[in-house]
Amino acid sequence: MNSQLQNNDKMIRTRFAPSPTGFLHIGGARTALFNWLFARHHGGQFLLRIEDTDRARSTQAAIDAILDGLGWLGLDWDGEAISQFARAERHAEVAYALLERGHAFKCYCTTDEVQALRDEAFAAGRALRSPWRDRDPADAPADTPFTVRFKAPDSDVVLDDAVQGQVRWAAKEFDDLILLRSDGTPTYNLAVVVDDHDMEITHIVRGDDHLVNGARQSQIYDAMGWDKPVFAHVPLIHGQDGKKLSKRHGALGAEAYREMGYLPEGLRNYLLRLGWSHGDQELFSDAEAIAAFDLGGLNKAPARMDIDKLNHINAHHIGQADDARLTELVLPFLDTLEDRIDADDITRKRLMAAMPVLKTRASTLAELAGQNYFLLRPRPFVLEGKAAKPLKDDESRERLYRLFTHLGDVDTWTEAALSDALKEFAETEEVGFGKVGQPLRAALTGGAPAPDLALVMTFIGRDETLGRIQDQMTPIATA
Ligand code: GLU
Repeated sequence: MNSQLQNNDKMIRTRFAPSPTGFLHIGGARTALFNWLFARHHGGQFLLRIEDTDRARSTQAAIDAILDGLGWLGLDWDGEAISQFARAERHAEVAYALLERGHAFKCYCTTDEVQALRDEAFAAGRALRSPWRDRDPADAPADTPFTVRFKAPDSDVVLDDAVQGQVRWAAKEFDDLILLRSDGTPTYNLAVVVDDHDMEITHIVRGDDHLVNGARQSQIYDAMGWDKPVFAHVPLIHGQDGKKLSKRHGALGAEAYREMGYLPEGLRNYLLRLGWSHGDQELFSDAEAIAAFDLGGLNKAPARMDIDKLNHINAHHIGQADDARLTELVLPFLDTLEDRIDADDITRKRLMAAMPVLKTRASTLAELAGQNYFLLRPRPFVLEGKAAKPLKDDESRERLYRLFTHLGDVDTWTEAALSDALKEFAETEEVGFGKVGQPLRAALTGGAPAPDLALVMTFIGRDETLGRIQDQMTPIATA
Protein backbone atom coordinates (compact mmCIF):
# COMPACT_ATOMS: atom_id res chain seq x y z
CA MET A 1 0.00 0.00 0.00
CA ASN A 2 1.44 3.40 -0.83
CA SER A 3 1.95 6.08 1.80
CA GLN A 4 -1.15 8.01 0.75
CA LEU A 5 -3.22 5.03 1.79
CA GLN A 6 -1.89 4.92 5.30
CA ASN A 7 -3.05 6.72 8.37
CA ASN A 8 -0.37 5.50 10.69
CA ASP A 9 -0.18 8.31 13.15
CA LYS A 10 -3.74 8.03 14.45
CA MET A 11 -5.66 5.40 16.30
CA ILE A 12 -7.48 3.29 13.74
CA ARG A 13 -11.20 3.97 13.79
CA THR A 14 -13.62 2.34 11.42
CA ARG A 15 -17.37 2.44 11.25
CA PHE A 16 -20.37 0.69 9.85
CA ALA A 17 -23.02 3.11 8.65
CA PRO A 18 -26.16 1.21 7.66
CA SER A 19 -29.39 2.80 6.52
CA PRO A 20 -32.22 0.93 8.24
CA THR A 21 -33.89 -1.24 5.64
CA GLY A 22 -35.61 -3.66 7.99
CA PHE A 23 -32.87 -6.27 8.04
CA LEU A 24 -29.10 -6.64 8.04
CA HIS A 25 -28.27 -7.19 4.39
CA ILE A 26 -25.69 -9.88 3.81
CA GLY A 27 -23.52 -7.36 1.94
CA GLY A 28 -23.85 -4.97 4.87
CA ALA A 29 -22.90 -7.78 7.25
CA ARG A 30 -19.74 -8.33 5.23
CA THR A 31 -18.96 -4.59 5.23
CA ALA A 32 -19.43 -4.51 9.00
CA LEU A 33 -17.21 -7.57 9.38
CA PHE A 34 -14.37 -6.06 7.35
CA ASN A 35 -14.48 -2.82 9.36
CA TRP A 36 -14.70 -4.73 12.62
CA LEU A 37 -11.75 -6.96 11.75
CA PHE A 38 -9.64 -4.05 10.59
CA ALA A 39 -10.26 -2.14 13.83
CA ARG A 40 -9.67 -5.20 15.99
CA HIS A 41 -6.51 -6.07 14.04
CA HIS A 42 -5.06 -2.65 14.85
CA GLY A 43 -6.36 -2.46 18.40
CA GLY A 44 -8.54 0.42 17.24
CA GLN A 45 -12.23 1.15 17.46
CA PHE A 46 -15.22 0.07 15.44
CA LEU A 47 -18.12 2.50 15.56
CA LEU A 48 -21.72 2.23 14.50
CA ARG A 49 -23.68 5.02 12.88
CA ILE A 50 -27.27 4.57 11.88
CA GLU A 51 -28.00 6.61 8.76
CA ASP A 52 -31.56 7.29 9.76
CA THR A 53 -32.29 10.46 7.81
CA ASP A 54 -35.05 8.77 5.82
CA ARG A 55 -37.63 9.18 8.56
CA ALA A 56 -40.26 6.98 6.96
CA ARG A 57 -37.96 3.96 6.82
CA SER A 58 -36.06 4.55 10.04
CA THR A 59 -38.48 2.90 12.43
CA GLN A 60 -37.26 1.48 15.72
CA ALA A 61 -38.06 -2.00 14.40
CA ALA A 62 -35.88 -1.42 11.32
CA ILE A 63 -33.03 -0.17 13.49
CA ASP A 64 -33.42 -3.06 15.94
CA ALA A 65 -33.22 -5.53 13.06
CA ILE A 66 -29.76 -4.19 12.25
CA LEU A 67 -28.64 -4.19 15.86
CA ASP A 68 -29.93 -7.74 16.34
CA GLY A 69 -28.15 -8.93 13.21
CA LEU A 70 -24.86 -7.39 14.32
CA GLY A 71 -25.34 -8.77 17.83
CA TRP A 72 -26.00 -12.26 16.52
CA LEU A 73 -22.95 -12.06 14.26
CA GLY A 74 -20.87 -11.01 17.25
CA LEU A 75 -19.75 -7.74 15.67
CA ASP A 76 -19.62 -5.58 18.76
CA TRP A 77 -19.18 -1.87 18.31
CA ASP A 78 -17.46 0.60 20.58
CA GLY A 79 -19.53 3.23 22.36
CA GLU A 80 -23.13 4.15 21.63
CA ALA A 81 -24.63 3.82 18.16
CA ILE A 82 -24.77 7.29 16.61
CA SER A 83 -27.87 8.67 14.93
CA GLN A 84 -27.15 10.64 11.78
CA PHE A 85 -30.52 12.36 11.92
CA ALA A 86 -29.75 13.72 15.38
CA ARG A 87 -26.72 15.52 13.99
CA ALA A 88 -28.53 17.62 11.38
CA GLU A 89 -27.63 20.91 13.05
CA ARG A 90 -23.95 20.08 12.97
CA HIS A 91 -24.24 19.20 9.28
CA ALA A 92 -25.83 22.58 8.59
CA GLU A 93 -23.08 24.28 10.56
CA VAL A 94 -20.47 22.77 8.25
CA ALA A 95 -22.47 23.80 5.19
CA TYR A 96 -22.33 27.38 6.44
CA ALA A 97 -18.60 27.00 7.15
CA LEU A 98 -18.16 25.98 3.52
CA LEU A 99 -20.20 29.00 2.52
CA GLU A 100 -17.90 31.27 4.49
CA ARG A 101 -14.83 29.68 2.96
CA GLY A 102 -16.19 30.35 -0.51
CA HIS A 103 -16.63 26.63 -1.29
CA ALA A 104 -20.38 26.85 -1.25
CA PHE A 105 -23.01 29.34 -2.32
CA LYS A 106 -26.69 30.02 -1.99
CA CYS A 107 -28.61 29.05 -5.07
CA TYR A 108 -31.94 30.78 -5.71
CA CYS A 109 -32.91 28.83 -8.82
CA THR A 110 -36.46 27.53 -8.88
CA THR A 111 -37.12 23.86 -9.56
CA ASP A 112 -38.07 24.68 -13.16
CA GLU A 113 -34.91 26.67 -13.69
CA VAL A 114 -32.82 23.85 -12.31
CA GLN A 115 -34.52 21.40 -14.66
CA ALA A 116 -33.85 23.63 -17.67
CA LEU A 117 -30.21 24.09 -16.64
CA ARG A 118 -29.84 20.35 -16.11
CA ASP A 119 -31.23 19.58 -19.58
CA GLU A 120 -28.91 22.13 -21.11
CA ALA A 121 -25.90 20.73 -19.24
CA PHE A 122 -26.84 17.18 -20.20
CA ALA A 123 -27.02 18.16 -23.89
CA ALA A 124 -23.56 19.69 -23.57
CA GLY A 125 -22.20 16.52 -21.93
CA ARG A 126 -21.49 17.99 -18.52
CA ALA A 127 -23.04 18.14 -15.08
CA LEU A 128 -25.16 21.04 -13.85
CA ARG A 129 -23.50 24.21 -12.64
CA SER A 130 -25.69 26.83 -11.04
CA PRO A 131 -25.46 30.44 -12.29
CA TRP A 132 -25.45 31.54 -8.65
CA ARG A 133 -21.96 30.14 -8.10
CA ASP A 134 -20.53 33.23 -9.72
CA ARG A 135 -23.19 35.76 -8.86
CA ASP A 136 -22.87 38.42 -6.22
CA PRO A 137 -24.88 37.31 -3.17
CA ALA A 138 -26.06 40.92 -2.98
CA ASP A 139 -28.19 40.19 -6.06
CA ALA A 140 -30.13 37.61 -4.13
CA PRO A 141 -33.90 38.09 -4.38
CA ALA A 142 -35.52 38.92 -1.06
CA ASP A 143 -37.65 36.33 0.76
CA THR A 144 -36.88 33.62 -1.75
CA PRO A 145 -36.05 30.08 -0.66
CA PHE A 146 -32.55 28.94 -1.49
CA THR A 147 -30.47 25.80 -1.35
CA VAL A 148 -26.84 25.76 -0.29
CA ARG A 149 -24.77 24.20 -3.04
CA PHE A 150 -21.19 23.04 -3.08
CA LYS A 151 -19.09 24.94 -5.59
CA ALA A 152 -17.81 21.97 -7.61
CA PRO A 153 -14.06 22.49 -8.17
CA ASP A 154 -12.77 22.87 -11.72
CA SER A 155 -10.01 20.33 -11.30
CA ASP A 156 -10.22 16.57 -11.88
CA VAL A 157 -11.29 14.52 -8.93
CA VAL A 158 -8.81 11.86 -7.93
CA LEU A 159 -9.54 9.21 -5.35
CA ASP A 160 -6.78 6.95 -4.07
CA ASP A 161 -8.66 3.85 -3.13
CA ALA A 162 -7.13 0.95 -1.23
CA VAL A 163 -9.00 -1.57 -3.37
CA GLN A 164 -9.71 0.20 -6.67
CA GLY A 165 -6.35 1.98 -6.95
CA GLN A 166 -6.32 5.54 -8.22
CA VAL A 167 -9.62 6.52 -9.78
CA ARG A 168 -10.02 9.79 -11.69
CA TRP A 169 -13.08 11.76 -12.83
CA ALA A 170 -13.19 14.87 -14.98
CA ALA A 171 -14.42 17.98 -13.15
CA LYS A 172 -17.35 18.35 -15.55
CA GLU A 173 -18.83 15.07 -14.30
CA PHE A 174 -19.72 16.63 -10.95
CA ASP A 175 -22.50 19.10 -10.44
CA ASP A 176 -22.81 21.79 -7.81
CA LEU A 177 -24.04 19.39 -5.19
CA ILE A 178 -26.84 20.51 -2.90
CA LEU A 179 -25.55 20.52 0.69
CA LEU A 180 -28.64 21.96 2.36
CA ARG A 181 -32.11 21.69 0.88
CA SER A 182 -34.35 24.73 0.85
CA ASP A 183 -35.90 23.54 4.15
CA GLY A 184 -32.42 23.60 5.68
CA THR A 185 -32.02 19.82 5.96
CA PRO A 186 -28.61 18.38 5.04
CA THR A 187 -28.07 16.05 2.11
CA TYR A 188 -26.45 12.67 2.22
CA ASN A 189 -22.83 13.27 1.20
CA LEU A 190 -22.46 16.30 3.46
CA ALA A 191 -23.82 14.35 6.44
CA VAL A 192 -21.49 11.40 5.81
CA VAL A 193 -18.38 13.60 5.60
CA VAL A 194 -19.23 15.61 8.70
CA ASP A 195 -20.03 12.49 10.69
CA ASP A 196 -16.95 10.59 9.58
CA HIS A 197 -14.79 13.61 10.36
CA ASP A 198 -16.31 14.19 13.78
CA MET A 199 -16.15 10.48 14.62
CA GLU A 200 -12.46 10.62 13.64
CA ILE A 201 -12.83 7.77 11.21
CA THR A 202 -9.50 6.79 9.69
CA HIS A 203 -10.60 4.04 7.31
CA ILE A 204 -13.83 3.54 5.42
CA VAL A 205 -14.46 0.11 3.98
CA ARG A 206 -17.77 -0.12 2.10
CA GLY A 207 -19.39 -1.35 -1.09
CA ASP A 208 -18.15 0.07 -4.39
CA ASP A 209 -21.64 1.37 -5.10
CA HIS A 210 -20.36 4.28 -2.97
CA LEU A 211 -17.27 4.95 -5.11
CA VAL A 212 -18.68 8.08 -6.76
CA ASN A 213 -19.91 9.26 -3.35
CA GLY A 214 -16.31 8.77 -2.22
CA ALA A 215 -15.17 11.18 -4.91
CA ARG A 216 -17.77 13.76 -3.90
CA GLN A 217 -16.97 13.31 -0.27
CA SER A 218 -13.25 13.74 -0.88
CA GLN A 219 -14.02 17.15 -2.46
CA ILE A 220 -15.84 18.21 0.69
CA TYR A 221 -12.95 17.06 2.89
CA ASP A 222 -10.55 19.08 0.77
CA ALA A 223 -12.75 22.16 0.89
CA MET A 224 -12.91 21.98 4.68
CA GLY A 225 -9.17 21.32 4.89
CA TRP A 226 -9.86 18.09 6.77
CA ASP A 227 -7.70 14.95 6.64
CA LYS A 228 -9.29 12.34 4.48
CA PRO A 229 -9.84 8.79 5.70
CA VAL A 230 -8.48 5.90 3.68
CA PHE A 231 -11.21 4.69 1.35
CA ALA A 232 -11.55 1.02 0.45
CA HIS A 233 -14.44 0.36 -1.91
CA VAL A 234 -15.12 -3.35 -2.12
CA PRO A 235 -16.92 -4.93 -5.09
CA LEU A 236 -20.49 -5.96 -4.26
CA ILE A 237 -21.43 -9.57 -3.72
CA HIS A 238 -22.78 -11.35 -6.77
CA GLY A 239 -25.02 -14.38 -7.05
CA GLN A 240 -23.78 -17.71 -8.33
CA ASP A 241 -24.80 -16.67 -11.84
CA GLY A 242 -22.47 -13.66 -11.70
CA LYS A 243 -25.29 -11.09 -11.47
CA LYS A 244 -25.58 -8.60 -8.64
CA LEU A 245 -27.09 -10.23 -5.56
CA SER A 246 -30.84 -9.87 -5.45
CA LYS A 247 -33.90 -11.54 -3.90
CA ARG A 248 -33.85 -13.96 -6.82
CA HIS A 249 -30.67 -15.48 -5.42
CA GLY A 250 -32.32 -16.40 -2.14
CA ALA A 251 -31.69 -15.13 1.34
CA LEU A 252 -30.50 -11.54 1.56
CA GLY A 253 -30.65 -10.92 5.30
CA ALA A 254 -28.29 -12.26 7.96
CA GLU A 255 -31.29 -13.41 10.03
CA ALA A 256 -32.33 -15.80 7.26
CA TYR A 257 -28.96 -17.55 7.55
CA ARG A 258 -29.48 -17.79 11.28
CA GLU A 259 -32.88 -19.40 10.69
CA MET A 260 -31.35 -21.86 8.24
CA GLY A 261 -29.03 -23.02 11.01
CA TYR A 262 -25.73 -21.35 10.25
CA LEU A 263 -23.53 -20.47 13.19
CA PRO A 264 -22.44 -16.84 13.50
CA GLU A 265 -18.80 -17.88 13.34
CA GLY A 266 -19.54 -19.96 10.24
CA LEU A 267 -21.18 -17.04 8.46
CA ARG A 268 -18.41 -14.70 9.59
CA ASN A 269 -15.75 -17.01 8.23
CA TYR A 270 -17.64 -17.38 4.96
CA LEU A 271 -18.22 -13.64 4.56
CA LEU A 272 -14.57 -13.00 5.33
CA ARG A 273 -13.57 -15.15 2.37
CA LEU A 274 -16.19 -13.52 0.16
CA GLY A 275 -13.99 -10.81 -1.26
CA TRP A 276 -10.91 -11.14 0.90
CA SER A 277 -8.13 -13.67 0.71
CA HIS A 278 -5.07 -14.69 2.60
CA GLY A 279 -3.15 -17.16 0.46
CA ASP A 280 -5.45 -20.11 0.03
CA GLN A 281 -6.51 -20.36 3.66
CA GLU A 282 -10.23 -21.05 3.83
CA LEU A 283 -10.95 -21.70 7.49
CA PHE A 284 -10.33 -19.05 10.11
CA SER A 285 -10.92 -18.84 13.81
CA ASP A 286 -11.71 -15.31 15.01
CA ALA A 287 -8.22 -14.92 16.40
CA GLU A 288 -6.71 -15.97 13.07
CA ALA A 289 -9.02 -13.65 11.13
CA ILE A 290 -8.15 -10.70 13.37
CA ALA A 291 -4.45 -11.44 13.09
CA ALA A 292 -4.52 -11.84 9.30
CA PHE A 293 -6.99 -9.17 8.17
CA ASP A 294 -5.60 -6.30 6.12
CA LEU A 295 -6.86 -4.12 3.28
CA GLY A 296 -4.29 -5.61 0.89
CA GLY A 297 -6.21 -8.91 0.84
CA LEU A 298 -9.43 -7.30 -0.44
CA ASN A 299 -10.16 -8.48 -3.95
CA LYS A 300 -10.92 -6.21 -6.85
CA ALA A 301 -13.16 -8.71 -8.60
CA PRO A 302 -16.69 -9.28 -7.29
CA ALA A 303 -17.15 -12.36 -5.14
CA ARG A 304 -19.90 -14.87 -5.83
CA MET A 305 -22.21 -16.31 -3.24
CA ASP A 306 -21.57 -20.03 -3.01
CA ILE A 307 -23.83 -22.02 -0.69
CA ASP A 308 -21.75 -25.21 -0.97
CA LYS A 309 -18.76 -23.33 0.31
CA LEU A 310 -20.82 -21.76 3.09
CA ASN A 311 -21.99 -25.27 4.09
CA HIS A 312 -18.44 -26.56 4.07
CA ILE A 313 -17.17 -23.71 6.23
CA ASN A 314 -20.13 -23.90 8.59
CA ALA A 315 -19.67 -27.67 8.98
CA HIS A 316 -16.14 -27.00 10.13
CA HIS A 317 -17.32 -24.52 12.75
CA ILE A 318 -20.08 -26.84 13.98
CA GLY A 319 -17.38 -29.49 14.42
CA GLN A 320 -15.35 -27.04 16.51
CA ALA A 321 -18.21 -25.73 18.63
CA ASP A 322 -18.80 -26.57 22.27
CA ASP A 323 -21.22 -29.49 22.84
CA ALA A 324 -23.35 -27.75 25.47
CA ARG A 325 -23.73 -24.68 23.25
CA LEU A 326 -24.67 -26.79 20.22
CA THR A 327 -27.20 -28.66 22.34
CA GLU A 328 -28.98 -25.41 23.19
CA LEU A 329 -28.70 -24.11 19.63
CA VAL A 330 -30.10 -27.24 18.05
CA LEU A 331 -33.19 -27.41 20.33
CA PRO A 332 -35.29 -24.87 18.34
CA PHE A 333 -34.57 -26.80 15.16
CA LEU A 334 -36.03 -29.97 16.65
CA ASP A 335 -39.44 -28.32 16.39
CA THR A 336 -39.31 -28.64 12.64
CA LEU A 337 -39.03 -32.44 12.89
CA GLU A 338 -41.85 -34.89 12.36
CA ASP A 339 -42.69 -35.35 16.04
CA ARG A 340 -42.80 -32.71 18.73
CA ILE A 341 -39.77 -33.13 20.91
CA ASP A 342 -39.61 -31.58 24.37
CA ALA A 343 -36.56 -29.59 25.29
CA ASP A 344 -36.34 -31.42 28.60
CA ASP A 345 -33.45 -32.89 30.57
CA ILE A 346 -33.60 -36.28 28.85
CA THR A 347 -33.41 -34.61 25.45
CA ARG A 348 -30.47 -32.50 26.57
CA LYS A 349 -28.68 -35.49 28.09
CA ARG A 350 -28.98 -37.53 24.94
CA LEU A 351 -27.96 -34.62 22.74
CA MET A 352 -24.92 -34.01 24.90
CA ALA A 353 -23.94 -37.68 24.70
CA ALA A 354 -24.20 -37.83 20.94
CA MET A 355 -22.88 -34.36 20.14
CA PRO A 356 -19.16 -35.17 19.94
CA VAL A 357 -19.91 -37.64 17.15
CA LEU A 358 -22.85 -36.00 15.40
CA LYS A 359 -21.38 -32.52 15.22
CA THR A 360 -18.69 -33.78 12.89
CA ARG A 361 -21.30 -34.64 10.25
CA ALA A 362 -23.63 -31.65 9.86
CA SER A 363 -23.45 -28.52 7.71
CA THR A 364 -26.20 -26.65 9.54
CA LEU A 365 -28.05 -26.82 12.84
CA ALA A 366 -31.14 -27.90 10.89
CA GLU A 367 -29.19 -30.85 9.52
CA LEU A 368 -27.81 -31.56 12.97
CA ALA A 369 -31.36 -31.65 14.33
CA GLY A 370 -32.31 -34.17 11.62
CA GLN A 371 -29.31 -36.29 12.50
CA ASN A 372 -30.33 -36.25 16.16
CA TYR A 373 -33.88 -37.31 15.47
CA PHE A 374 -33.19 -41.02 16.10
CA LEU A 375 -32.08 -40.09 19.62
CA LEU A 376 -35.22 -38.29 20.56
CA ARG A 377 -38.17 -39.59 18.61
CA PRO A 378 -41.00 -40.65 20.90
CA ARG A 379 -41.70 -44.37 21.46
CA PRO A 380 -43.13 -46.64 20.29
CA PHE A 381 -42.03 -46.23 16.68
CA VAL A 382 -44.46 -47.20 13.99
CA LEU A 383 -42.30 -48.85 11.38
CA GLU A 384 -43.40 -48.27 7.83
CA GLY A 385 -42.10 -49.05 4.35
CA LYS A 386 -38.37 -49.66 4.17
CA ALA A 387 -37.95 -49.32 7.91
CA ALA A 388 -40.45 -52.13 8.57
CA LYS A 389 -38.80 -54.61 6.21
CA PRO A 390 -36.09 -56.09 8.49
CA LEU A 391 -38.73 -56.92 11.09
CA LYS A 392 -41.43 -58.26 8.79
CA ASP A 393 -40.95 -61.93 9.62
CA ASP A 394 -41.32 -63.83 12.88
CA GLU A 395 -37.77 -65.14 12.66
CA SER A 396 -36.32 -61.63 12.93
CA ARG A 397 -38.62 -60.63 15.72
CA GLU A 398 -37.82 -63.76 17.65
CA ARG A 399 -34.13 -63.14 17.18
CA LEU A 400 -34.68 -59.62 18.47
CA TYR A 401 -36.25 -61.17 21.56
CA ARG A 402 -33.11 -63.24 22.15
CA LEU A 403 -30.94 -60.18 21.51
CA PHE A 404 -32.94 -58.32 24.15
CA THR A 405 -31.89 -60.92 26.74
CA HIS A 406 -28.32 -60.96 25.47
CA LEU A 407 -27.93 -57.17 25.64
CA GLY A 408 -29.64 -57.12 29.01
CA ASP A 409 -26.67 -59.10 30.31
CA VAL A 410 -24.07 -56.55 29.19
CA ASP A 411 -22.49 -55.17 32.35
CA THR A 412 -20.69 -52.08 31.20
CA TRP A 413 -22.73 -50.09 28.75
CA THR A 414 -19.82 -48.92 26.58
CA GLU A 415 -19.35 -48.80 22.85
CA ALA A 416 -16.65 -51.50 22.95
CA ALA A 417 -18.62 -53.86 25.18
CA LEU A 418 -21.77 -53.43 23.08
CA SER A 419 -19.91 -53.93 19.86
CA ASP A 420 -18.44 -57.21 21.21
CA ALA A 421 -21.83 -58.30 22.46
CA LEU A 422 -23.36 -57.85 19.01
CA LYS A 423 -20.59 -59.84 17.30
CA GLU A 424 -20.86 -62.59 19.88
CA PHE A 425 -24.61 -62.74 19.43
CA ALA A 426 -24.30 -63.10 15.64
CA GLU A 427 -21.87 -65.98 16.19
CA THR A 428 -24.14 -67.74 18.66
CA GLU A 429 -27.04 -67.36 16.24
CA GLU A 430 -24.82 -68.60 13.40
CA VAL A 431 -25.95 -65.82 11.10
CA GLY A 432 -24.15 -62.99 9.27
CA PHE A 433 -24.02 -59.65 11.09
CA GLY A 434 -26.66 -58.19 8.77
CA LYS A 435 -29.31 -60.52 10.17
CA VAL A 436 -28.68 -59.01 13.59
CA GLY A 437 -27.82 -55.44 12.66
CA GLN A 438 -30.71 -54.65 10.32
CA PRO A 439 -33.57 -55.61 12.65
CA LEU A 440 -31.78 -53.98 15.57
CA ARG A 441 -31.26 -50.78 13.59
CA ALA A 442 -34.92 -50.74 12.62
CA ALA A 443 -35.96 -51.18 16.24
CA LEU A 444 -33.56 -48.55 17.59
CA THR A 445 -33.97 -45.84 14.96
CA GLY A 446 -37.25 -46.55 13.21
CA GLY A 447 -35.43 -45.92 9.95
CA ALA A 448 -34.03 -42.50 10.89
CA PRO A 449 -30.42 -41.83 9.89
CA ALA A 450 -28.09 -42.83 12.71
CA PRO A 451 -24.46 -43.78 13.26
CA ASP A 452 -22.98 -47.13 14.23
CA LEU A 453 -25.31 -49.28 16.36
CA ALA A 454 -23.03 -49.63 19.38
CA LEU A 455 -22.76 -45.83 19.42
CA VAL A 456 -26.53 -45.45 19.12
CA MET A 457 -26.97 -47.69 22.16
CA THR A 458 -24.48 -45.72 24.23
CA PHE A 459 -26.11 -42.43 23.22
CA ILE A 460 -29.63 -43.45 24.22
CA GLY A 461 -28.57 -45.59 27.21
CA ARG A 462 -29.53 -49.04 28.46
CA ASP A 463 -33.17 -48.46 29.38
CA GLU A 464 -34.14 -46.72 26.18
CA THR A 465 -32.27 -49.31 24.11
CA LEU A 466 -34.01 -52.22 25.75
CA GLY A 467 -37.32 -50.38 25.67
CA ARG A 468 -37.09 -49.73 21.92
CA ILE A 469 -36.18 -53.36 21.28
CA GLN A 470 -39.06 -54.52 23.44
CA ASP A 471 -41.50 -52.39 21.44
CA GLN A 472 -40.69 -54.35 18.30
CA MET A 473 -39.80 -57.85 19.40
CA THR A 474 -43.22 -59.46 19.90
CA PRO A 475 -43.76 -62.06 17.22
CA ILE A 476 -46.29 -61.06 14.57
CA ALA A 477 -49.75 -62.29 15.44
CA THR A 478 -51.17 -64.44 12.69
CA ALA A 479 -54.53 -63.39 11.46
N1 GLU B 1 -25.73 4.24 4.57
C1 GLU B 1 -25.00 3.73 3.46
C2 GLU B 1 -25.57 2.38 3.06
O1 GLU B 1 -26.25 1.76 3.85
C3 GLU B 1 -23.54 3.52 3.76
C4 GLU B 1 -22.78 4.79 3.69
C5 GLU B 1 -21.32 4.65 3.93
O2 GLU B 1 -20.84 3.57 4.34
O3 GLU B 1 -20.65 5.65 3.75
O4 GLU B 1 -25.34 1.97 1.95
